[in-house]
Amino acid sequence: MQTRLQQLKENALALLKQVGEGQELQDLRVKYLGKKGELTEILRGMGGLSAEERPKIGQLVNEVRQVIEEAILSKQQEFEARVLEAKLNKQTIDVTLPGRPVPTGTMHPLSRIIEELEDIFIGLGYEVAEGPEVELDHFNFEMLNLPKGHPARDMQDSFYITEELLLRTHTSPVQARTMLKKEGKTPLKIICPGKVYRRDDDDATHSHQFTQIEGLVVGKDISMSDLKGTLLTFAKQMFGEDQQIRLRPSFFPFTEPSVEVDIQCVICHGEGCRICKQTGWIEILGAGMVHPRVLEMAGYNPQEVSGFAFGMGVERIAMLKYGIEDIRNFYTNDVRFLRQFNRS
Ligand SMILES: [Zn+2]
Repeated sequence: MQTRLQQLKENALALLKQVGEGQELQDLRVKYLGKKGELTEILRGMGGLSAEERPKIGQLVNEVRQVIEEAILSKQQEFEARVLEAKLNKQTIDVTLPGRPVPTGTMHPLSRIIEELEDIFIGLGYEVAEGPEVELDHFNFEMLNLPKGHPARDMQDSFYITEELLLRTHTSPVQARTMLKKEGKTPLKIICPGKVYRRDDDDATHSHQFTQIEGLVVGKDISMSDLKGTLLTFAKQMFGEDQQIRLRPSFFPFTEPSVEVDIQCVICHGEGCRICKQTGWIEILGAGMVHPRVLEMAGYNPQEVSGFAFGMGVERIAMLKYGIEDIRNFYTNDVRFLRQFNRS
């Protein structure tokens, strides 16, 4: 019986050497290890052995079974490795191929400028305040010294929703709202960025919807020189250290005195060109000392406190900074335009 087992093992190993993949290997397993296989058959015949021989043969059968099992397993792994290798050879990856770009959005140039403006003024100790775009006539005009019938209301053709409700024509109502909330307390230093609406015909430099940033400071002994210093600091940070500003007298109902503020032309640096109409200066914002009436209506005593305010169009700043010639580019959302600002 020992010889028979030895023979069986050698036969099995010899067959395994030349066995084919898949079913052939499976058949071989059944032939030797299956329920009706040759090893099982030997085990069944052990009944005729003596009590001495039985454990020896039993052990031998187990050894042979283990050898055959291991041989089958290693053959199977060999086949699997071969399949994997063939697959890898077939699917070569060219690592030199450029990757497929994943399209990503970019920050809108207006959002960029707003962030930059906020950074500048937060650095100067300002807080950012916001208010509603659908505003009461009361806050948009009356609280800013523009009573009903005031001729200066014509400067800002408005989109009225009802008699008393309109799309805000400037961000100044946020000033009025914030001052009221402060209940006469100082100091107050805010900037208010946001969308505003006017009944303008759209062209290269006008839009019925645009973005403003308004600034307001109220406190003791606030003077015109504080305003000028603040605006000069802003101009230098936004347009470069060598920037200069120029103040010209102007009129706004909510400030007195009022000024219009120019920066040196960013194109010709003061030499004179088409953009600055040969003057060397470009107007960028309106400003002034807060009108005593406005302070009073908002709960401040103009004998004790003073303030300055300024307001600018964000589109105008962006157009000058990035050399954009048509304001409509900001709203048509042509990706070819927007992609140019992908520099973050
Ligand atoms: Zn110029």
